[in-house]
Amino acid sequence: MAFDFDLFVIGAGSGGVRAARFAAGFGARVAVAESRYLGGTCVNVGCVPKKLLVYGAHVAEELEQARGFGWSLDGARFDWATLIGNKTREIQRLNGIYRNLLVNSGVTLLDGHARIVGAHEVEVNGQRYSAEHILVAVGGWPQVPDIPGKELAITSNEAFYLERLPRRVLVVGGGYIAVEFASIFHGLGAQTALLYRGERFLRGFDEAVRSHMEEELRKKGLDLPFTSDIAAIERQGDGSLLATLRDGRVLEADCVFYATGRRPMLDDLGLESAGVALDARGYIAVDDEYRTSVPSILAIGDVIGRVQLTPVALAEGMAVARRLFRPAEYRPVDYALIPTAVFSLPNIATVGLTEQQARERGHAVKVFESRFRPMKLTLTDCQERTLMKLVVDADSDRVLGCHMVGPEAGEIVQGLAVALKAGATKAVFDETLGIHPSAAEEFVTMRTPRAD
Ligand code: FAD
Ligand code: NDP
Repeated sequence: MAFDFDLFVIGAGSGGVRAARFAAGFGARVAVAESRYLGGTCVNVGCVPKKLLVYGAHVAEELEQARGFGWSLDGARFDWATLIGNKTREIQRLNGIYRNLLVNSGVTLLDGHARIVGAHEVEVNGQRYSAEHILVAVGGWPQVPDIPGKELAITSNEAFYLERLPRRVLVVGGGYIAVEFASIFHGLGAQTALLYRGERFLRGFDEAVRSHMEEELRKKGLDLPFTSDIAAIERQGDGSLLATLRDGRVLEADCVFYATGRRPMLDDLGLESAGVALDARGYIAVDDEYRTSVPSILAIGDVIGRVQLTPVALAEGMAVARRLFRPAEYRPVDYALIPTAVFSLPNIATVGLTEQQARERGHAVKVFESRFRPMKLTLTDCQERTLMKLVVDADSDRVLGCHMVGPEAGEIVQGLAVALKAGATKAVFDETLGIHPSAAEEFVTMRTPRAD
Protein backbone atom coordinates (compact mmCIF):
# COMPACT_ATOMS: atom_id res chain seq x y z
CA MET A 1 0.00 0.00 0.00
CA ALA A 2 1.28 3.49 -0.84
CA PHE A 3 1.29 5.79 2.17
CA ASP A 4 1.37 9.60 2.09
CA PHE A 5 4.39 9.53 4.42
CA ASP A 6 6.93 7.02 5.71
CA LEU A 7 6.77 8.61 9.17
CA PHE A 8 4.11 10.85 10.71
CA VAL A 9 5.30 12.48 13.94
CA ILE A 10 2.75 13.90 16.38
CA GLY A 11 4.37 16.66 18.45
CA ALA A 12 7.27 18.97 17.52
CA GLY A 13 8.94 18.86 20.93
CA SER A 14 12.37 17.56 21.89
CA GLY A 15 11.78 13.96 20.82
CA GLY A 16 9.53 14.58 17.82
CA VAL A 17 11.77 17.17 16.15
CA ARG A 18 14.85 15.01 16.61
CA ALA A 19 13.17 11.91 15.15
CA ALA A 20 11.66 13.88 12.24
CA ARG A 21 14.88 15.64 11.26
CA PHE A 22 16.99 12.52 11.40
CA ALA A 23 14.40 10.41 9.56
CA ALA A 24 14.16 13.04 6.81
CA GLY A 25 17.96 13.15 6.68
CA PHE A 26 17.95 9.39 6.11
CA GLY A 27 15.70 9.92 3.08
CA ALA A 28 12.29 9.19 4.64
CA ARG A 29 9.16 11.18 3.70
CA VAL A 30 8.25 12.76 7.03
CA ALA A 31 5.38 14.91 8.35
CA VAL A 32 5.18 16.56 11.77
CA ALA A 33 2.01 17.94 13.33
CA GLU A 34 2.28 20.48 16.15
CA SER A 35 -0.74 21.96 17.90
CA ARG A 36 0.82 24.50 20.22
CA TYR A 37 4.45 25.58 19.94
CA LEU A 38 7.49 24.46 17.97
CA GLY A 39 10.21 23.05 20.18
CA GLY A 40 7.69 21.67 22.69
CA THR A 41 7.83 21.96 26.45
CA CYS A 42 11.59 22.36 26.75
CA VAL A 43 11.84 25.38 24.48
CA ASN A 44 8.57 27.10 25.37
CA VAL A 45 7.65 26.36 28.99
CA GLY A 46 10.49 24.18 30.27
CA CYS A 47 14.27 23.96 30.28
CA VAL A 48 15.05 27.09 28.28
CA PRO A 49 12.80 29.80 29.80
CA LYS A 50 13.35 28.22 33.24
CA LYS A 51 17.11 28.54 32.89
CA LEU A 52 16.76 32.15 31.73
CA LEU A 53 14.70 32.97 34.82
CA VAL A 54 17.23 31.20 37.05
CA TYR A 55 19.96 33.32 35.50
CA GLY A 56 17.81 36.35 36.32
CA ALA A 57 17.47 35.28 39.93
CA HIS A 58 21.18 34.53 40.16
CA VAL A 59 22.00 38.11 39.21
CA ALA A 60 20.46 39.17 42.53
CA GLU A 61 23.00 37.00 44.38
CA GLU A 62 25.85 38.33 42.26
CA LEU A 63 24.81 41.91 43.03
CA GLU A 64 24.73 41.11 46.73
CA GLN A 65 28.19 39.54 46.58
CA ALA A 66 29.59 42.37 44.47
CA ARG A 67 29.88 44.55 47.57
CA GLY A 68 32.60 42.29 48.93
CA PHE A 69 34.66 42.98 45.81
CA GLY A 70 34.34 46.72 46.21
CA TRP A 71 31.39 47.40 43.99
CA SER A 72 28.56 49.51 45.26
CA LEU A 73 25.37 49.12 43.33
CA ASP A 74 22.98 51.12 45.41
CA GLY A 75 19.67 51.68 43.71
CA ALA A 76 19.74 48.45 41.67
CA ARG A 77 16.17 47.59 40.70
CA PHE A 78 14.57 44.54 39.17
CA ASP A 79 11.84 44.71 36.53
CA TRP A 80 9.90 41.46 36.00
CA ALA A 81 8.24 42.71 32.79
CA THR A 82 11.64 43.27 31.18
CA LEU A 83 12.86 39.80 32.09
CA ILE A 84 9.66 38.12 30.85
CA GLY A 85 9.57 40.22 27.68
CA ASN A 86 13.18 39.43 26.81
CA LYS A 87 12.62 35.76 27.62
CA THR A 88 9.55 35.60 25.37
CA ARG A 89 11.41 37.25 22.49
CA GLU A 90 14.19 34.68 22.81
CA ILE A 91 11.66 31.83 22.78
CA GLN A 92 10.05 33.29 19.64
CA ARG A 93 13.48 33.38 18.02
CA LEU A 94 13.97 29.72 18.90
CA ASN A 95 10.49 28.85 17.54
CA GLY A 96 11.60 30.33 14.20
CA ILE A 97 14.83 28.33 14.27
CA TYR A 98 12.87 25.11 14.88
CA ARG A 99 10.55 25.91 11.97
CA ASN A 100 13.54 26.46 9.66
CA LEU A 101 15.31 23.33 10.89
CA LEU A 102 12.28 21.19 10.08
CA VAL A 103 11.40 22.80 6.77
CA ASN A 104 15.03 22.85 5.61
CA SER A 105 15.37 19.15 6.35
CA GLY A 106 12.46 18.46 4.01
CA VAL A 107 9.88 17.70 6.71
CA THR A 108 6.24 18.60 5.96
CA LEU A 109 5.10 20.73 8.90
CA LEU A 110 1.40 20.79 9.76
CA ASP A 111 0.17 23.37 12.28
CA GLY A 112 -2.73 21.79 14.16
CA HIS A 113 -3.93 19.16 16.58
CA ALA A 114 -3.36 15.59 15.37
CA ARG A 115 -5.70 12.69 16.10
CA ILE A 116 -4.95 9.08 15.36
CA VAL A 117 -7.82 7.54 13.42
CA GLY A 118 -6.30 4.15 12.61
CA ALA A 119 -3.10 2.11 12.76
CA HIS A 120 -1.74 4.07 9.78
CA GLU A 121 -3.91 7.17 9.71
CA VAL A 122 -3.83 10.59 11.36
CA GLU A 123 -6.24 13.50 11.05
CA VAL A 124 -5.12 17.15 11.26
CA ASN A 125 -7.43 20.13 10.64
CA GLY A 126 -10.05 17.82 9.09
CA GLN A 127 -7.61 16.25 6.63
CA ARG A 128 -6.49 12.62 6.80
CA TYR A 129 -2.93 11.49 6.16
CA SER A 130 -1.64 7.93 5.91
CA ALA A 131 1.79 6.84 7.12
CA GLU A 132 3.68 3.58 7.38
CA HIS A 133 4.79 4.56 10.89
CA ILE A 134 3.21 6.99 13.34
CA LEU A 135 5.39 8.38 16.13
CA VAL A 136 3.62 9.79 19.18
CA ALA A 137 5.82 12.39 20.88
CA VAL A 138 3.17 14.52 22.56
CA GLY A 139 4.93 15.06 25.90
CA GLY A 140 3.23 15.84 29.20
CA TRP A 141 1.17 18.43 31.02
CA PRO A 142 1.22 19.72 34.63
CA GLN A 143 -0.97 17.81 37.03
CA VAL A 144 -2.69 19.59 39.93
CA PRO A 145 -4.44 17.54 42.63
CA ASP A 146 -8.20 17.81 42.70
CA ILE A 147 -8.77 20.19 45.63
CA PRO A 148 -11.41 22.91 46.03
CA GLY A 149 -10.02 26.07 44.46
CA LYS A 150 -7.46 24.31 42.24
CA GLU A 151 -8.44 26.70 39.40
CA LEU A 152 -6.93 29.54 41.46
CA ALA A 153 -3.49 27.90 41.38
CA ILE A 154 -0.98 28.25 38.57
CA THR A 155 1.56 25.79 37.17
CA SER A 156 4.87 26.23 35.35
CA ASN A 157 2.92 26.85 32.13
CA GLU A 158 1.44 30.07 33.48
CA ALA A 159 4.42 31.13 35.61
CA PHE A 160 6.40 31.99 32.50
CA TYR A 161 3.77 34.55 31.50
CA LEU A 162 2.79 36.17 34.81
CA GLU A 163 2.26 39.89 34.35
CA ARG A 164 3.74 40.74 37.73
CA LEU A 165 6.10 39.05 40.14
CA PRO A 166 3.83 37.97 43.00
CA ARG A 167 4.77 39.39 46.39
CA ARG A 168 4.08 36.15 48.31
CA VAL A 169 4.26 32.73 46.65
CA LEU A 170 3.38 29.27 47.93
CA VAL A 171 5.15 26.63 45.85
CA VAL A 172 3.65 23.15 46.25
CA GLY A 173 5.70 20.02 45.48
CA GLY A 174 9.17 18.75 46.23
CA GLY A 175 10.61 17.77 42.86
CA TYR A 176 12.62 19.49 40.14
CA ILE A 177 10.11 22.15 39.18
CA ALA A 178 9.13 23.09 42.73
CA VAL A 179 12.73 23.56 43.85
CA GLU A 180 13.74 25.44 40.71
CA PHE A 181 10.79 27.83 40.85
CA ALA A 182 11.11 28.37 44.58
CA SER A 183 14.66 29.55 43.80
CA ILE A 184 13.43 31.77 40.98
CA PHE A 185 10.65 33.43 43.00
CA HIS A 186 12.77 33.82 46.12
CA GLY A 187 15.81 35.01 44.16
CA LEU A 188 13.80 37.68 42.39
CA GLY A 189 12.46 38.99 45.67
CA ALA A 190 9.14 37.24 46.37
CA GLN A 191 8.46 35.97 49.86
CA THR A 192 8.49 32.25 49.09
CA ALA A 193 7.41 29.10 50.91
CA LEU A 194 7.88 25.61 49.48
CA LEU A 195 5.27 23.21 50.85
CA TYR A 196 6.08 19.53 50.54
CA ARG A 197 3.81 16.71 51.67
CA GLY A 198 6.59 14.41 52.94
CA GLU A 199 9.34 14.68 55.56
CA ARG A 200 11.92 16.15 53.18
CA PHE A 201 11.79 17.23 49.53
CA LEU A 202 13.78 15.89 46.53
CA ARG A 203 12.83 12.26 47.09
CA GLY A 204 15.12 9.99 45.07
CA PHE A 205 18.18 12.25 45.39
CA ASP A 206 21.07 11.30 47.68
CA GLU A 207 20.24 11.96 51.35
CA ALA A 208 23.28 14.23 51.70
CA VAL A 209 22.03 16.33 48.77
CA ARG A 210 18.54 16.52 50.26
CA SER A 211 19.67 17.62 53.71
CA HIS A 212 22.36 19.99 52.39
CA MET A 213 19.87 21.63 50.05
CA GLU A 214 17.34 22.01 52.83
CA GLU A 215 19.96 23.71 55.00
CA GLU A 216 21.09 26.05 52.24
CA LEU A 217 17.59 27.12 51.25
CA ARG A 218 16.64 27.75 54.88
CA LYS A 219 19.82 29.85 55.28
CA LYS A 220 18.73 31.96 52.31
CA GLY A 221 15.43 32.66 54.03
CA LEU A 222 13.11 30.37 52.13
CA ASP A 223 10.30 29.00 54.21
CA LEU A 224 10.21 25.19 53.88
CA PRO A 225 7.11 23.83 55.58
CA PHE A 226 7.51 20.09 55.05
CA THR A 227 4.75 17.59 55.92
CA SER A 228 2.35 20.25 54.67
CA ASP A 229 -0.36 19.80 52.12
CA ILE A 230 -3.01 22.22 50.89
CA ALA A 231 -6.64 21.07 51.31
CA ALA A 232 -8.36 24.06 49.71
CA ILE A 233 -7.66 27.45 48.17
CA GLU A 234 -9.99 30.43 48.16
CA ARG A 235 -9.80 34.00 46.93
CA GLN A 236 -10.28 36.81 49.41
CA GLY A 237 -12.00 40.12 48.77
CA ASP A 238 -8.70 41.95 48.21
CA GLY A 239 -7.66 39.45 45.51
CA SER A 240 -5.13 37.56 47.62
CA LEU A 241 -5.38 33.79 48.18
CA LEU A 242 -5.98 31.80 51.35
CA ALA A 243 -4.64 28.25 51.42
CA THR A 244 -6.05 26.00 54.12
CA LEU A 245 -3.72 23.13 54.94
CA ARG A 246 -4.87 19.62 55.87
CA ASP A 247 -3.77 20.23 59.47
CA GLY A 248 -5.95 23.32 59.66
CA ARG A 249 -3.23 25.96 59.30
CA VAL A 250 -4.11 28.83 56.98
CA LEU A 251 -1.54 30.59 54.77
CA GLU A 252 -2.03 33.79 52.81
CA ALA A 253 -0.38 34.36 49.44
CA ASP A 254 -0.69 36.19 46.14
CA CYS A 255 0.17 33.14 44.07
CA VAL A 256 -0.10 29.38 44.66
CA PHE A 257 2.17 27.52 42.25
CA TYR A 258 1.70 23.76 41.86
CA ALA A 259 4.58 21.55 40.71
CA THR A 260 3.18 18.17 41.62
CA GLY A 261 4.25 16.14 38.61
CA ARG A 262 3.12 15.84 35.02
CA ARG A 263 0.70 13.55 33.23
CA PRO A 264 0.98 12.27 29.64
CA MET A 265 -0.73 14.64 27.16
CA LEU A 266 -3.24 12.18 25.68
CA ASP A 267 -6.19 14.59 25.28
CA ASP A 268 -8.19 13.86 22.13
CA LEU A 269 -5.28 11.90 20.68
CA GLY A 270 -7.45 9.02 19.49
CA LEU A 271 -5.28 6.25 20.94
CA GLU A 272 -8.39 4.17 21.65
CA SER A 273 -9.48 4.24 18.00
CA ALA A 274 -6.30 2.38 17.06
CA GLY A 275 -6.23 0.25 20.23
CA VAL A 276 -2.97 1.64 21.67
CA ALA A 277 -2.56 0.31 25.23
CA LEU A 278 -1.46 2.33 28.27
CA ASP A 279 0.64 1.05 31.16
CA ALA A 280 -0.54 0.85 34.78
CA ARG A 281 0.46 4.48 35.40
CA GLY A 282 -1.45 5.78 32.37
CA TYR A 283 1.55 6.38 30.10
CA ILE A 284 1.77 4.83 26.61
CA ALA A 285 3.19 1.31 26.99
CA VAL A 286 6.11 0.58 24.62
CA ASP A 287 8.58 -2.25 24.09
CA ASP A 288 12.37 -1.82 24.01
CA GLU A 289 12.17 -0.37 20.51
CA TYR A 290 9.36 2.09 21.34
CA ARG A 291 6.62 0.07 19.59
CA THR A 292 3.21 0.40 21.20
CA SER A 293 0.67 -2.43 21.30
CA VAL A 294 -0.04 -1.43 17.66
CA PRO A 295 3.29 -2.11 15.92
CA SER A 296 2.97 0.71 13.33
CA ILE A 297 2.52 3.25 16.15
CA LEU A 298 5.58 4.20 18.22
CA ALA A 299 5.96 6.51 21.19
CA ILE A 300 8.89 8.33 22.81
CA GLY A 301 9.67 11.02 25.35
CA ASP A 302 7.63 12.15 28.33
CA VAL A 303 4.51 10.36 27.06
CA ILE A 304 6.09 6.97 27.79
CA GLY A 305 6.94 8.08 31.34
CA ARG A 306 10.47 6.64 31.58
CA VAL A 307 12.89 9.48 32.21
CA GLN A 308 11.34 12.89 31.63
CA LEU A 309 14.38 14.80 30.41
CA THR A 310 15.10 16.46 27.08
CA PRO A 311 18.36 14.61 26.33
CA VAL A 312 16.50 11.33 26.90
CA ALA A 313 13.70 12.32 24.49
CA LEU A 314 16.37 13.35 21.96
CA ALA A 315 18.16 10.01 22.30
CA GLU A 316 14.89 8.09 21.93
CA GLY A 317 13.97 10.14 18.84
CA MET A 318 17.33 9.40 17.29
CA ALA A 319 17.03 5.70 18.12
CA VAL A 320 13.62 5.48 16.42
CA ALA A 321 14.81 7.30 13.29
CA ARG A 322 17.82 5.02 13.00
CA ARG A 323 15.95 1.79 13.68
CA LEU A 324 13.32 2.59 11.04
CA PHE A 325 15.44 4.17 8.32
CA ARG A 326 19.15 3.40 9.03
CA PRO A 327 19.01 0.07 10.86
CA ALA A 328 22.75 -0.54 10.39
CA GLU A 329 23.42 2.47 12.66
CA TYR A 330 20.81 1.58 15.29
CA ARG A 331 21.93 1.52 18.92
CA PRO A 332 19.48 1.19 21.80
CA VAL A 333 19.33 4.08 24.26
CA ASP A 334 21.47 3.43 27.31
CA TYR A 335 19.46 4.49 30.35
CA ALA A 336 22.33 3.89 32.77
CA LEU A 337 24.21 6.83 34.26
CA ILE A 338 21.99 9.64 33.00
CA PRO A 339 23.37 12.84 34.52
CA THR A 340 20.84 15.39 35.69
CA ALA A 341 20.72 18.81 37.31
CA VAL A 342 18.20 20.77 39.29
CA PHE A 343 18.83 24.36 38.24
CA SER A 344 18.02 25.78 41.63
CA LEU A 345 20.10 28.26 43.61
CA PRO A 346 22.30 26.57 44.63
CA ASN A 347 22.49 24.12 41.76
CA ILE A 348 22.19 20.36 42.27
CA ALA A 349 23.73 17.84 39.88
CA THR A 350 24.09 14.13 40.06
CA VAL A 351 25.11 11.11 38.04
CA GLY A 352 24.97 7.46 39.00
CA LEU A 353 23.82 5.81 42.19
CA THR A 354 22.93 7.49 45.44
CA GLU A 355 24.58 6.01 48.52
CA GLN A 356 21.26 4.41 49.45
CA GLN A 357 20.78 2.86 46.01
CA ALA A 358 24.34 1.51 46.02
CA ARG A 359 23.79 -0.18 49.39
CA GLU A 360 20.39 -1.54 48.34
CA ARG A 361 22.05 -3.09 45.28
CA GLY A 362 24.47 -4.92 47.52
CA HIS A 363 27.60 -2.81 47.01
CA ALA A 364 30.00 -2.39 49.89
CA VAL A 365 30.50 1.37 49.60
CA LYS A 366 33.13 3.89 50.49
CA VAL A 367 31.85 7.44 50.65
CA PHE A 368 33.92 10.57 50.08
CA GLU A 369 32.21 13.75 51.11
CA SER A 370 33.32 17.35 51.27
CA ARG A 371 31.50 20.49 52.38
CA PHE A 372 33.24 23.82 51.98
CA ARG A 373 32.73 27.53 51.50
CA PRO A 374 33.76 28.31 47.93
CA MET A 375 36.69 30.70 47.52
CA LYS A 376 34.53 33.16 45.59
CA LEU A 377 32.44 33.76 48.68
CA THR A 378 35.31 34.40 51.08
CA LEU A 379 35.22 38.15 50.43
CA THR A 380 31.45 38.29 50.80
CA ASP A 381 28.90 37.86 53.56
CA CYS A 382 27.40 34.84 51.81
CA GLN A 383 27.71 31.75 53.99
CA GLU A 384 26.61 29.26 51.31
CA ARG A 385 28.48 25.96 51.39
CA THR A 386 29.12 23.52 48.58
CA LEU A 387 28.65 19.77 48.89
CA MET A 388 30.52 17.19 46.84
CA LYS A 389 30.10 13.47 47.30
CA LEU A 390 31.47 10.37 45.63
CA VAL A 391 29.99 6.92 46.17
CA VAL A 392 32.61 4.26 45.46
CA ASP A 393 32.34 0.48 45.26
CA ALA A 394 34.76 -0.73 47.94
CA ASP A 395 35.54 -3.99 46.12
CA SER A 396 36.13 -2.82 42.54
CA ASP A 397 37.08 0.81 43.40
CA ARG A 398 34.64 1.91 40.69
CA VAL A 399 32.94 5.28 41.21
CA LEU A 400 29.23 4.52 41.31
CA GLY A 401 27.84 8.01 41.87
CA CYS A 402 28.80 11.70 41.97
CA HIS A 403 26.61 14.27 43.69
CA MET A 404 27.02 18.00 44.08
CA VAL A 405 25.18 20.97 45.49
CA GLY A 406 26.81 24.27 44.62
CA PRO A 407 27.48 26.83 41.92
CA GLU A 408 27.74 25.38 38.40
CA ALA A 409 27.05 21.84 39.63
CA GLY A 410 25.43 21.01 36.27
CA GLU A 411 28.49 22.18 34.36
CA ILE A 412 30.85 20.20 36.59
CA VAL A 413 28.94 16.93 36.80
CA GLN A 414 28.49 16.73 33.01
CA GLY A 415 32.23 16.03 32.72
CA LEU A 416 32.18 13.55 35.57
CA ALA A 417 29.40 11.67 33.77
CA VAL A 418 31.86 10.91 30.97
CA ALA A 419 34.29 9.48 33.51
CA LEU A 420 31.61 7.29 35.07
CA LYS A 421 30.45 6.10 31.63
CA ALA A 422 34.06 5.13 30.94
CA GLY A 423 34.06 3.11 34.17
CA ALA A 424 36.47 5.33 36.09
CA THR A 425 37.71 4.03 39.43
CA LYS A 426 38.46 6.19 42.45
CA ALA A 427 42.16 5.63 41.66
CA VAL A 428 41.60 7.33 38.28
CA PHE A 429 39.97 10.27 40.04
CA ASP A 430 42.96 10.40 42.43
CA GLU A 431 45.48 10.36 39.57
CA THR A 432 43.68 13.18 37.77
CA LEU A 433 45.27 16.53 38.49
CA GLY A 434 43.03 19.33 39.63
CA ILE A 435 42.43 22.66 37.98
CA HIS A 436 43.54 25.11 40.61
CA PRO A 437 41.98 27.12 42.09
CA SER A 438 38.54 25.79 41.24
CA ALA A 439 35.70 24.23 43.18
CA ALA A 440 35.64 21.31 40.76
CA GLU A 441 39.13 20.16 41.80
CA GLU A 442 37.64 18.96 45.07
CA PHE A 443 36.21 16.00 43.13
CA VAL A 444 39.77 14.75 42.45
CA THR A 445 41.30 15.62 45.81
CA MET A 446 39.04 13.87 48.30
CA ARG A 447 41.30 11.25 49.87
CA THR A 448 39.76 10.11 53.13
CA PRO A 449 36.58 8.09 53.10
CA ARG A 450 33.84 9.16 55.48
CA ALA A 451 34.10 7.27 58.76
CA ASP A 452 30.80 5.47 59.21
P1 FAD B 1 7.45 17.87 24.58
O1 FAD B 1 8.70 18.63 24.50
O2 FAD B 1 6.49 18.20 25.64
O3 FAD B 1 6.73 18.06 23.16
C1 FAD B 1 5.46 17.56 22.88
C2 FAD B 1 4.82 18.43 21.80
O4 FAD B 1 3.66 17.77 21.31
C3 FAD B 1 4.34 19.78 22.33
O5 FAD B 1 4.88 20.81 21.53
C4 FAD B 1 2.83 19.71 22.22
O6 FAD B 1 2.23 20.96 21.92
C5 FAD B 1 2.66 18.73 21.07
N1 FAD B 1 1.37 18.04 21.06
C6 FAD B 1 0.76 17.44 22.10
N2 FAD B 1 -0.37 16.82 21.68
C7 FAD B 1 -0.44 17.04 20.35
C8 FAD B 1 -1.37 16.65 19.35
N3 FAD B 1 -2.40 15.86 19.61
N4 FAD B 1 -1.18 17.08 18.07
C9 FAD B 1 -0.12 17.87 17.77
N5 FAD B 1 0.81 18.24 18.68
C10 FAD B 1 0.64 17.83 19.95
N6 FAD B 1 14.38 18.60 30.99
C11 FAD B 1 15.73 18.72 31.00
O7 FAD B 1 16.42 17.84 30.48
N7 FAD B 1 16.35 19.81 31.58
C12 FAD B 1 15.64 20.80 32.15
O8 FAD B 1 16.22 21.76 32.66
C13 FAD B 1 14.23 20.71 32.15
N8 FAD B 1 13.49 21.69 32.70
C14 FAD B 1 12.13 21.60 32.66
C15 FAD B 1 11.39 22.61 33.26
C16 FAD B 1 10.03 22.56 33.25
C17 FAD B 1 9.23 23.68 33.89
C18 FAD B 1 9.36 21.46 32.63
C19 FAD B 1 7.86 21.40 32.59
C20 FAD B 1 10.09 20.44 32.04
C21 FAD B 1 11.49 20.50 32.06
N9 FAD B 1 12.26 19.48 31.51
C22 FAD B 1 13.63 19.58 31.54
C23 FAD B 1 11.65 18.29 30.89
C24 FAD B 1 11.62 18.41 29.36
O9 FAD B 1 11.02 19.64 28.99
C25 FAD B 1 10.84 17.25 28.77
O10 FAD B 1 11.38 16.03 29.24
C26 FAD B 1 10.90 17.24 27.24
O11 FAD B 1 10.40 18.44 26.70
C27 FAD B 1 10.11 16.05 26.70
O12 FAD B 1 10.11 16.07 25.30
P2 FAD B 1 8.94 15.38 24.48
O13 FAD B 1 9.36 15.40 23.05
O14 FAD B 1 8.57 14.09 25.07
O15 FAD B 1 7.66 16.31 24.68
P1 NDP C 1 8.50 15.52 40.03
O1 NDP C 1 7.96 14.19 39.75
O2 NDP C 1 9.95 15.77 39.95
O3 NDP C 1 8.02 15.99 41.48
C1 NDP C 1 6.68 16.01 41.83
C2 NDP C 1 6.60 16.44 43.27
O4 NDP C 1 5.25 16.68 43.61
C3 NDP C 1 7.12 15.38 44.23
O5 NDP C 1 7.79 16.03 45.27
C4 NDP C 1 5.85 14.72 44.73
O6 NDP C 1 5.97 14.24 46.05
C5 NDP C 1 4.90 15.88 44.74
N1 NDP C 1 3.50 15.47 44.56
C6 NDP C 1 3.01 14.62 43.65
N2 NDP C 1 1.67 14.50 43.77
C7 NDP C 1 1.32 15.32 44.79
C8 NDP C 1 0.08 15.64 45.41
N3 NDP C 1 -1.05 15.09 44.99
N4 NDP C 1 0.08 16.50 46.44
C9 NDP C 1 1.23 17.05 46.88
N5 NDP C 1 2.44 16.79 46.33
C10 NDP C 1 2.48 15.94 45.30
O7 NDP C 1 7.67 16.48 39.07
P2 NDP C 1 7.88 17.97 38.58
O8 NDP C 1 6.51 18.45 38.30
O9 NDP C 1 8.75 18.73 39.50
O10 NDP C 1 8.67 17.77 37.22
C11 NDP C 1 8.27 16.80 36.24
C12 NDP C 1 9.45 16.20 35.57
O11 NDP C 1 10.00 17.12 34.63
C13 NDP C 1 10.62 15.87 36.49
O12 NDP C 1 10.47 14.64 37.13
C14 NDP C 1 11.79 15.87 35.56
O13 NDP C 1 11.92 14.62 34.93
C15 NDP C 1 11.40 16.93 34.54
N6 NDP C 1 12.10 18.18 34.86
C16 NDP C 1 13.46 18.22 34.76
C17 NDP C 1 14.15 19.34 35.10
C18 NDP C 1 15.63 19.35 35.00
O14 NDP C 1 16.20 18.49 34.37
N7 NDP C 1 16.29 20.34 35.58
C19 NDP C 1 13.48 20.54 35.56
C20 NDP C 1 12.05 20.40 35.63
C21 NDP C 1 11.40 19.26 35.29
P3 NDP C 1 6.57 12.80 46.41
O15 NDP C 1 8.04 12.91 46.29
O16 NDP C 1 6.12 12.61 47.82
O17 NDP C 1 5.95 11.83 45.46
